[in-house]
Amino acid sequence: MTRTHVIETRGLTRRFGDVTAVDALDLDVERCEVVGLLGHNGAGKTTTVRLLNGVLAPSGGSARVLGFDPMHDGVALRRRCGVSTETPSVDERLTGRAGLRFFAEVFDVPPARVERRIDELLAAFDLTAAADQRVGTYSKGMRQRLTLARALLHEPELLFLDEPSSGLDPVAARAVDERIAGLRDAGTTVLLCTHNLAQAQALCDRVVVLERGAVVASGTPTALAADLGASIEVRVAARLAAVTDVWALLADVEGARRLESPDALGGEPHEVRFGASDDAAIAAVVRALVHAGADVYAVERRAPSLEDVYFALHRGERPAPRAGATEGVSA
Ligand code: ATP
Repeated sequence: MTRTHVIETRGLTRRFGDVTAVDALDLDVERCEVVGLLGHNGAGKTTTVRLLNGVLAPSGGSARVLGFDPMHDGVALRRRCGVSTETPSVDERLTGRAGLRFFAEVFDVPPARVERRIDELLAAFDLTAAADQRVGTYSKGMRQRLTLARALLHEPELLFLDEPSSGLDPVAARAVDERIAGLRDAGTTVLLCTHNLAQAQALCDRVVVLERGAVVASGTPTALAADLGASIEVRVAARLAAVTDVWALLADVEGARRLESPDALGGEPHEVRFGASDDAAIAAVVRALVHAGADVYAVERRAPSLEDVYFALHRGERPAPRAGATEGVSA
């Protein structure tokens, strides 16, 4: 394990009967990185988190987390990492505050700091008013917020967040995103399992996409988009006047391709929507339009998003290996 790797797995595998939930996973996460673990339902994200926490034994391969073997040093490991899963983690018979006190003791939070830390987290997750209510009476979103507070109690250096925004209303979800961003800025390492691609795009330095337990892509959203050849989406507003066949004109420009759009060429000025491989292709299309007699009013570009990348992978497209690239299909 290199000095900066907080998580390192090699060939990590977990089978349940005939199902290979995690398939020879090589995953490196560096200190202070926020890495998104993405993939369809059943791709192996939660199983990976459970393996990395020592809750589940691997069928093969190895894992080191903060230098520990999760299966053998689980207790020491859990004192230094925080885990939030969708499964409620605080005893329903306790009040929220008492549940947090219990875990503060488990996590060795210095007694002098416990009450202040609990008050701070209850306030941060909007649970102050419900602090002395039994957890059994909490709504789904309140339980989720309590689980997050519990994960942060001991200010862990590594966080595993499995669907942290599940069941949260938009205001609470935004507060959680802001909290994760704050933790990232303060240097906490985070492994974030999420189906929320906008959340992953906003928060993650890098994403790892799993399919049937194996890594199919890994890298920054921008690098993955480039490796997949995803286009920049361009909208041009223009009075086409003398241009009789804009699609024929587009076909002559290298790096530009027509995007099917129901409102293409609708309205006045017309809106022409196309995909461009790079800036040169955008400039060439605008030049060709002007040359053909069109008046161009606006050019709007949208970089490929993580959602574009995810759906390209879902269609079976795979990133092309780049010379000298450190990101690609190996995580
Ligand atoms: P989701 O996005 O739905 O939460 P996931 O990516 O977290 O899915 P896992 O929960 O890791 O996926 O499941 C991976 C595979 O392993 C699935 O096929 C699941 O049915 C199987 N699996 C997970 N836990 C068990 C278990 N305890 N016993 C049997 N099969 C299991």
